Amino acid sequence: MAVYTVHGGHAKQGNKYSGAVGFCSESVVDRAICAAVIKYLKAAGHTAYDCTVDSGISQGNIITQIKKKINSYKNVTCNISIHLNATTKSAADGKVKGSEVLVYSTTGEDALIANRVCLELKVLGFTNRGVKKRTDLGVLKGITNGGKNILVECFFCDDQDDYNLFNKVGVDAIGKAIAMGVLGKAIPTSTSNTAKYLHNGVDYSAVFDAEFYNKTYPDIKTAFKGDAQKSFQHFCTYGMKEGRQGSKEFNVLVYKERYSDLKAAFGQNLPAYYEHYCTFGKKEGRKAI
Ligand SMILES: [Zn+2]
Repeated sequence: MAVYTVHGGHAKQGNKYSGAVGFCSESVVDRAICAAVIKYLKAAGHTAYDCTVDSGISQGNIITQIKKKINSYKNVTCNISIHLNATTKSAADGKVKGSEVLVYSTTGEDALIANRVCLELKVLGFTNRGVKKRTDLGVLKGITNGGKNILVECFFCDDQDDYNLFNKVGVDAIGKAIAMGVLGKAIPTSTSNTAKYLHNGVDYSAVFDAEFYNKTYPDIKTAFKGDAQKSFQHFCTYGMKEGRQGSKEFNVLVYKERYSDLKAAFGQNLPAYYEHYCTFGKKEGRKAI
């Protein structure tokens, strides 16, 4: 078990010295990604501390406070600073500007970790801008807890293509990618997330999420006390026929109305739409929300 520190850069959005603002706000998104990185480091069995600082009297003071927090931990393996990049606001041109990871020195283990993070983010579609040497950044200097130090510029918050990709993949996937890059290995998804919802040989995970289903329908929660498999059985037997929504990404009525080819094929047979989405629709990029 190793120890990590993670922080979102800059002051909190709304405070002085918050981060860049483009199509989204750096200080909002970096904190969400920070939380996801911590979640996945912990899921892999490690200890991870949040060293984010929300306010300060100057940009430099915020960095000083962050470093004080970072250095209060001992025997740390790696310190991870989460940022979003920004340049000049640019409209969609089909090119994702992408990710870069900054290190004090491009030789040594910091750079190896940084490179792995770039490669993991590239898997999500973020162009790999590479590992960059930055000896001027305060947060990469004067760390005394024994850890390696990386600063991840996840994507450009002011590039429409980057922002669209961010919306598509989501905070959780970015956090997981960074955590896997830092660890240098895949993180098995926890059992609650991998619980496959199989019905007649079809995996219904895309249209069914027990937590979502129970939250949306109090009658289900009352009847099955949150039991995932019992909730799923209800969904298979009644829920789909009743047109209930079982996950945030699939609303059967939206799906039915949007695709006339499916409507022609399935008519009022609602379960057929759920099955189609799981088997073909999702892979075809069809949307049901
Ligand atoms: Zn920043």
